[in-house]
Amino acid sequence: MTITFPTTKPTKDAIRNAIGQLVTFVIRGDPTACDVCGASGGLYYDEVNEVSLDPYCTTCSGLYWLTTDTNSGVIAHVRWRTQDQPDMGVGGETFEGDCFVTIDINAISASNIVKIKEVRVDSRKLQVYRAIHRGVPTRDRIRFVCREWGKE
Ligand SMILES: [Zn+2]
Repeated sequence: MTITFPTTKPTKDAIRNAIGQLVTFVIRGDPTACDVCGASGGLYYDEVNEVSLDPYCTTCSGLYWLTTDTNSGVIAHVRWRTQDQPDMGVGGETFEGDCFVTIDINAISASNIVKIKEVRVDSRKLQVYRAIHRGVPTRDRIRFVCREWGKE
């Protein structure tokens, strides 16, 4: 008799789809140059500070680089902590995030994970502190350790 490790990812995905909820990942878009300040070869571009030399530009308000965020709805397992739990580590006491958001490892591409600006869960805005790949024997999900904006 051959004993094989069960294929658990479809099971975990099915459970997550049943008990999960739709959360919104806000992905920061690629920057594009302001077409007013960037006209004729970047005339109003400050290359040292990477901003526009025209702070009154009506298109970019002096930012020069403009980004368009993308909202991506993903089914996630969400777990709120009832209170902050201190974690006694080498650097002293640190606090873990107050929300765990777990999604399918294929739901968001690796290149977009580093561009996550915020996660919207239960009408609250969260900031991602860590992205932890989980699953045995193969990584099948990602857990984001999040904290509400302004509460870090
Ligand atoms: Zn501009």
